[in-house]
Amino acid sequence: MIEDSRMSDNPSSIINPQSLTILNTPVHAVTMAETLALARQFMREPRLHQICTTNPEFVMAAQTDADFRRALREADLCLPDGIGLVWASRWASPRGVGGRPLPERVPGSELVYNLAGLCAQEGWRLYLLGAAPGIAEQAAAIFQEKHPSLTIAGTYAGSPDPAENDAIVQRINNGRADMLFVAYGAPWQDKWIARNREALPTVRLAIGVGGALDFVTGKAIRAPRWVQKLGMEWLHRLIKEPWRWRRMLALPQFVLAIVKGSRRAGEQR
Ligand code: UDP
Repeated sequence: MIEDSRMSDNPSSIINPQSLTILNTPVHAVTMAETLALARQFMREPRLHQICTTNPEFVMAAQTDADFRRALREADLCLPDGIGLVWASRWASPRGVGGRPLPERVPGSELVYNLAGLCAQEGWRLYLLGAAPGIAEQAAAIFQEKHPSLTIAGTYAGSPDPAENDAIVQRINNGRADMLFVAYGAPWQDKWIARNREALPTVRLAIGVGGALDFVTGKAIRAPRWVQKLGMEWLHRLIKEPWRWRRMLALPQFVLAIVKGSRRAGEQR
């Protein structure tokens, strides 16, 4: 149920993170610092690299959504965004498979600030796609306030509707974007990036950021630090946004699947 492997051997790779497979879904064992080093590495290679901000909801959705599962498997980096993945890796990672659990959570909502900083430092053009109308523009202004040298390649709410696909691709290409944040929520954002990998020649890093732009602009409020430290940010989100309850049923289902899987693995040993 939880297996580990190495990322494919790439001679240009400096960092070669361990990849765990949790319920057939890849998750990379990286820290925030390693993620930023990998992001630099990706930006040096002339092709689009996809990053996913994986959590237990992703893992459960991937069990039944083949396109989403393929997008996650073919992504260059699946970050451990959900604390449930870190817990599962610590609790269920069999000792015989290296016993190396995921080192920490790498939340997309923090990573977006670091990636925007990287773009400012390196002169890379950042495009913000998705979220409710006006949010991407507000987020761009906040990033630019923090990093005055940041160049925004463009902002657009749009939608993941295939009918809008080509027009959105054209906007991003016209903006000569180097890096792209897509805020359509999972699985739409990740499938959007996967199906447009070949259509965005200037983009070297594209990441599905979920509600991160809502957090940047204050439209949504993250849990206090101490709640985050307890690993209870998901509960805070459920309390603040109770309409999520149906989606969050994936969490107990995830726990159950992990428990069942590790029992089965135990019986087979
Ligand atoms: N969203 C969008 N278009 C859509 C559906 C969602 O722009 O058709 C945006 C929504 O406004 C929000 C983000 O996608 O900013 C998804 O946020 P959510 O909190 O649901 O994502 P999560 O962080 O849970 O993946």
